[in-house]
Amino acid sequence: EIPQLSPTEKLAGGPPPSEDFIPLIVPEIRGNEWKYIKECLDTNWVSSLGSYVDRFEKMLAERAGTKYAIATVNGTAALHIAMLLAGVQADDEVVVSSLTFIAPANAIRYVGAWPLFIDAEPRYWQINPAGVIDFLDKGCSWDGKALRNRRTGRRVKAILPVHILGHPADLDPILAVAAKYSLPVIEDATEGLGARYRGKSLGSVGHVGCFSFNGNKIITTGGGGMLVTDNAEWAARARYLTTQAKDDPIEYVHNAIGYNYRLTNLLAAMGCAQMEQLDMFVEAKRQIAIRYQESLSSLPGIRLPEEADWAFNTFWMYTVLIDEKKSRIASRELLRELAARKIQTRPLWQPIHRSTAHNLSSSPSCPNSDALYGQAISLPCSVGLTRSAQDHVIETIASLLGK
Ligand SMILES: *Cc1c(COP(=O)(O)O)cnc(C)c1O
Repeated sequence: EIPQLSPTEKLAGGPPPSEDFIPLIVPEIRGNEWKYIKECLDTNWVSSLGSYVDRFEKMLAERAGTKYAIATVNGTAALHIAMLLAGVQADDEVVVSSLTFIAPANAIRYVGAWPLFIDAEPRYWQINPAGVIDFLDKGCSWDGKALRNRRTGRRVKAILPVHILGHPADLDPILAVAAKYSLPVIEDATEGLGARYRGKSLGSVGHVGCFSFNGNKIITTGGGGMLVTDNAEWAARARYLTTQAKDDPIEYVHNAIGYNYRLTNLLAAMGCAQMEQLDMFVEAKRQIAIRYQESLSSLPGIRLPEEADWAFNTFWMYTVLIDEKKSRIASRELLRELAARKIQTRPLWQPIHRSTAHNLSSSPSCPNSDALYGQAISLPCSVGLTRSAQDHVIETIASLLGK
């Protein structure tokens, strides 16, 4: 039987997922997931065609405020396709955040291009527009047609800002400098579903946006992704490239190298059910953020995440900074102490300019990313985190700071 809960019941209190372990982020599956997936099984529409794929795409396009949405197997695949749409080629360079999960940098390498890492700004921890502008204006030469990195001689072909942790990057200055040099802006909005930049949904502000629905994102399909755009030609191209570039579906004629990147109807069914709950999930994340804000802000050596005046922050991954001098405990030590008390936390990613996987790429110094990496710790913030579980996290942190 499918559990049918009212919206208020869905977010009501109750015991933590397991009585004695509080995970960092777990999915929330309390809506029509069972019902829709069962319908796929009952009707035999389990694979890459089906009404749920169309519905899921429509829901995402509506939410993002774009004309088109193309479902993909995961967010990384969407980013790979976005590189191809933007015409990024081997030995080009793409400007990207240094403080991010590695996927966008990898997607740049998939097409043989090179990431050019830009430091984070210290307040909201997003890619620093001043860094982007400085590199493009001063680090590159422009002949009216192509922009070239003065140091490497490579063509700079696109800008890939990553909105991290549910907070938007400051896009207006990035869009302005992109327009100056005719560069497409690809938004990695994989962590930003539900967040807004100056009232606009993330993913719709640049030329193309990418979403992810992996297990810890604000909605999940188990694994999945989406590419959104207003560009009809790019949308058609994305649809083509994600389905093995089939030019004649009967004769199996292919005029280009394509990819098997389509999301299945089964997973899209789960996505539709999750999308129905997105507003509720965002509300839950923001409530969790408010409660952390109220109880943690007075503790010594802890800095809480902020919301810029141009931002609507989902607080998807609630992350704080620990100033060891004042807190008398380093972020990693705090992580270990909390783990010993069965509270799961996580540091941010090793900044990608430090990654061995990308050690052949240009790596200007990114001191803010390095500092944030040293200090940041993400706290339990599942949509279904109960009040009692959150209280326990708060009390435990309070007992460990400043001692
Ligand atoms: C989750 C994520 C992705 C893509 O994830 P998939 O697991 O491929 O769906 C890309 N970029 C960032 C910043 C992410 O957090």
